[in-house]
Amino acid sequence: MAALRTALHGRLLQALPFSFRSLRCASSFKAADLTVERCTECKPKPDPSTLVFGKQFSDHMLTINWSEKDGWEVPQIKPFQNLSLHPATSALHYSIELFEGMKAFRGVDNHIRLFRPMMNMDRMHRSADRSCLPLFDKGEMLECIKKLLEVEQEWVPHSLSSSLYIRPTFIATEPSLGVSPPGRAMIFVIISPVGPYFATGSFNPVSLLADPAFVRAWKGGVGAYKMGGNYGPTISVQKEAVKRGCQQVLWLYGEQEEITEVGTMNLFIYWTNEQGEKELVTPPLDGIILPGVTRQSLLDLARGWGEFKVTERKLNMKDLLGALESGRVMEVFGAGTACVVCPVGSLLYKDKTYEVPMQQDGPDLAKRFFKELTDIQYGRTPSDWAPLVV
Ligand SMILES: *Cc1c(COP(=O)(O)O)cnc(C)c1O
Repeated sequence: MAALRTALHGRLLQALPFSFRSLRCASSFKAADLTVERCTECKPKPDPSTLVFGKQFSDHMLTINWSEKDGWEVPQIKPFQNLSLHPATSALHYSIELFEGMKAFRGVDNHIRLFRPMMNMDRMHRSADRSCLPLFDKGEMLECIKKLLEVEQEWVPHSLSSSLYIRPTFIATEPSLGVSPPGRAMIFVIISPVGPYFATGSFNPVSLLADPAFVRAWKGGVGAYKMGGNYGPTISVQKEAVKRGCQQVLWLYGEQEEITEVGTMNLFIYWTNEQGEKELVTPPLDGIILPGVTRQSLLDLARGWGEFKVTERKLNMKDLLGALESGRVMEVFGAGTACVVCPVGSLLYKDKTYEVPMQQDGPDLAKRFFKELTDIQYGRTPSDWAPLVV
């Protein structure tokens, strides 16, 4: 029925004079035009404690097609299914592709909330612009995602330690080998229930490999965008870290061995700086850092508390190792949607292991951030950072 409606809609528009047809090429799709085709049978919902990240998907997906000729088509929610792509599809050859990562949470009041979702929409829009993919209305995109969540609400785990991971993806579907702006593209959104990141309820500090031989992003490059092409090449480095007995990579940059990010997280250091002040530091958004929603949220929270200095500035390996050796470092942690905060226990740098001292009852600041953010996400603390979906 929905498919028929779309087809008829398409026919009607074709029959109209061009000036009317171009209405459809308006600069964005609209959530109000969305069509829903439901599955006849639903999959059983998994037990959240057995979930492996990103392996299980819900019953439906959202797709929105675009072409240069006809503009945006109506957004569709339909049964989860494989894509059918021309073998010359430019996303596959030239990585004209981007993605987002966000979560929905079922709160203590059984309502479903997102977390600062417009920040993801803003970032998706910036990534699209940098990728030569067509632009869209960010508010309409968020409304379409909310409709998908409405349809799939039972997929948001009934658990205060699990959540639903949302993966908006935008690919160029141009069926030709020219390296040029795509004439066709598709947004799709798939969702996947995820279990507790810290299954035991306490943090497991990670060990990092810091080797300046590997570079994730560079000045003038695209490290600030969530483009697929930034991530594939990091896997072999991650493998190298594991080979050397570490769990994740600390990405360094340049002659000064600037500290940039950890794995796919932003990096924070809480220390007593050289002036003897307590300070929370994270590298600045200078184009090589991915502007994380979690990063911004930790900065906003800490600035709101006003209890210690909060700084975005460049840091290099020498600063960090010096501070570790003189015992000034209190905590090092990564920050991202997947885990909120992830404490760092040690660094391997030039064949030497540097331990990050653990406080008696664990990393206090990381714990405090974790609690504040999850309280907002699960509706224990009311906040306009966590808009209701259902
Ligand atoms: C996604 C991502 C982050 C974290 O961003 P959040 O919006 O907080 O999830 C940090 N670094 C990289 C490289 C990323 O891809």
